[in-house]
Amino acid sequence: MSTNLDVALVVELRAAGVANAYAAGDPEYQPALLGFNRDISHTPEIVAVPHTVAEVVTTVTFANRHNLPVRVLGKGHGAQAPITDGIAIATDQLAFVSVDAETRTARVGAGATWTDVLSAAAPRGLAALCGSAPHVGVVGYLLGGGIGPVGRTFGFAADHVRSISVVTADGGLVRADAEFNQDLFWALRGGKGGFGVVVEVEIDLFPLATIYGGALFYAGEDTPAVLRTFAEWSRDLPDEMTTSVAMLRLPPLPELPEPLRGRFVCAVRIGYVGAAEDAEALMTPIREVARPLIDGVGEMPYAEIGRVHADPVDPMRVMEGGILLDEFDTAAADALLTASGPTVEVPLAAVEVRRLGGALSRMPEPPNAVGGRDAAYSLHVVGAPVPELLHSLIPQVIGGLFAGMEPWATGGTQVNFFGRANMPGDKVTSWSPEVAARLLEVRRKHDPAGRFPYPLHGEAI
Ligand SMILES: Cc1cc2nc3c(=O)[nH]c(=O)nc-3n(C[C@H](O)[C@H](O)[C@H](O)COP(=O)(O)OP(=O)(O)OC[C@H]3O[C@@H](n4cnc5c(N)ncnc54)[C@H](O)[C@@H]3O)c2cc1C
Repeated sequence: MSTNLDVALVVELRAAGVANAYAAGDPEYQPALLGFNRDISHTPEIVAVPHTVAEVVTTVTFANRHNLPVRVLGKGHGAQAPITDGIAIATDQLAFVSVDAETRTARVGAGATWTDVLSAAAPRGLAALCGSAPHVGVVGYLLGGGIGPVGRTFGFAADHVRSISVVTADGGLVRADAEFNQDLFWALRGGKGGFGVVVEVEIDLFPLATIYGGALFYAGEDTPAVLRTFAEWSRDLPDEMTTSVAMLRLPPLPELPEPLRGRFVCAVRIGYVGAAEDAEALMTPIREVARPLIDGVGEMPYAEIGRVHADPVDPMRVMEGGILLDEFDTAAADALLTASGPTVEVPLAAVEVRRLGGALSRMPEPPNAVGGRDAAYSLHVVGAPVPELLHSLIPQVIGGLFAGMEPWATGGTQVNFFGRANMPGDKVTSWSPEVAARLLEVRRKHDPAGRFPYPLHGEAI
């Protein structure tokens, strides 16, 4: 319900030049707030949908005048709490992609997805370092680091950002790069939120038309053997091989291949940058562990990288969480099987272990704020999208699973995999205490009044 005050504010913001600003009574208000995670409903006083950078500047200046908090909406994959006050800035209309094949770079506007970048880069034989789900927003992903299906070869996506343009709390448009505004450039690559509204990023592209990749799907009864083999096999891999294993409880959807429909399956995901023969030789232990239901690993166009994980694309209700691990040995595999293996009935859609390391563990030049570089594995758990369990049983089950994995945990999290099933106050563990302190310093310097709230210790947003 909009109040007279909200309506007056919207009228004033429109008059200031942001034509697409809406309060709760406007028919455009709800659709502008919708994101991937439909379990979260935002109710800010105003949602602004700027079409230009100048409109972003106007919106932030307006927020300063009225002392309103500002929060940024990308594609909603990382939404963690409802926005209940102030101004939400939806970035969809700022989206654009411009590829420069000569310098192998792309300029990408806020609101663009990796799918947009892949489509623009692929015809030039170039690849962009997206994550498992290309429909995720580019900016939100990069701000958190970005661990993708070829991450061990290239590192975090944030390691390959050349410049970032951001509207800061004083309403200024600032370019941060290796030379200018170095503190912001360091913080924005991995430090996630609370620094301003990123309007554009310039990223590296890579001459990579194909990879050897995809997924092997094993039957539920083969899961223990696959998980234990993965634990041993994944320990000593070359940087060319990026891999993960996931226990999936798949819904009975007609679009899924018949052997997977409505079943518990175990998927091993592969992203190999190099010769197919080398990848195949490397994969022998995994291929020999059992007969897969589907072997979908082979040479594939990089543009189809989303097939490796085949994450759900349609908006859904998400309750998720993640922790980082020092190690994933066969005892860790057994602990995971005890908590969520094929013989256990738990309302979990996906339990995924990604091998980190390789280039992900190396700090780029100039350094950035990406956390979790020293972890060997990440564990990410997504609850089943069952509305009546999402806020009761599912977070309890995920919490219990994390408790069972404590002997292997680093005690830290990775901010892109941090979710509502984590303890809210643990978000700060996405960075070392030194990096977290430096991020706070940068936030305080560029946003002394806290215009862009970014709770790290469980404070309300
Ligand atoms: C299906 C799925 C698969 C995923 N796979 C991976 C993966 O493989 N690797 C990985 O690293 N992560 C992965 N993620 C996590 C994802 O990268 C983050 O949730 C990311 O924040 C998503 O960006 P978004 O624009 O879609 O989300 P949003 O929820 O809209 O944005 C998340 C946060 O980012 C900030 N933000 C977004 N845009 C801006 C901007 N223009 N200016 C300032 N701040 C901004 C805001 O703080 C916002 O709250 C996945 C998530 C999902 C749901």
